[in-house]
Amino acid sequence: MKRLAGKVAVVTASTDGIGFAIAKRLAEDGAAVVISSRKQKNVDNALAELRKLNLNVHGLKCHVSEAQDRKQLFEETISKYGKLNILVSNAATNPAVGGVLECDEKVWDKIFDVNVKSSYLLAKEALPYLRREKGSSIVFVSSIAGYDAFELLGAYSVSKTALIGLTKAAAKDLAPEGIRVNCLAPGIIRTKFSKALYENEAANEAALSKIPMGRLGTSEEMAGVVSFLVSEDAGYITGESIVASGGMSARL
Ligand code: NAP
Repeated sequence: MKRLAGKVAVVTASTDGIGFAIAKRLAEDGAAVVISSRKQKNVDNALAELRKLNLNVHGLKCHVSEAQDRKQLFEETISKYGKLNILVSNAATNPAVGGVLECDEKVWDKIFDVNVKSSYLLAKEALPYLRREKGSSIVFVSSIAGYDAFELLGAYSVSKTALIGLTKAAAKDLAPEGIRVNCLAPGIIRTKFSKALYENEAANEAALSKIPMGRLGTSEEMAGVVSFLVSEDAGYITGESIVASGGMSARL
């Protein structure tokens, strides 16, 4: 039997990149998966790709900062599949590059709204459903930058540090109820989000020089970690952040 058979998962920001790979992997491991992102067209394309593989998926538009979209996300999950076992909060934004104290206040607010506040609200709103099921779990997607700030991604890095804190705090609160909360901190993964770090040769060389394994990571490698974290194989793991970074150093 597949290890996530009978489980229902919501993965946000899941029509491309790491989120898409997570949705695909959880579905391949037997879960029914609800995918979403800001653009309906992207949702439709991702659904078509996943259904071609005979995976049990449903999808809708959900901008994680929109309260109505989040409400719809959970309501549709329950009406379609009847329950929720797993929440993976994966959306993030980085509208501007620069050092943390150079960051414009509006940009700071946007980064914290999407990356941190939406993660907190999604978890809070998912909780009544997660509480109904045995062995539920939440995974937040942080970043290696949350451990050691990237110079040009100052505010983004701080928002990702906050997610490591959110993981620890929520895990402590929910541990007595048997709901686990963990975090994935990807290193540099080849996706659209990170293309500035690999598209130009100098940037690519600079990125690779920081990675002991000498290559960027793949979205599928990130998905494998999440599949483990939400499975019963990780049944005694909560409050942890797993760094998957090809050996880049991670220390708070
Ligand atoms: P990506 O390839 O650019 O994919 C982003 C996905 O998120 C798309 O499906 C996009 O679809 C959706 N999205 C963007 N903003 C959204 C929002 N506000 N609400 C809902 N959906 C939204 O990005 P990625 O590299 O996979 O990044 C995924 C996560 O991994 C992020 O949390 C990021 O911080 C983290 N991460 C990435 C790396 C890396 O090197 N790639 C490293 C560390 C951490 P729409 O355009 O349709 O919304």
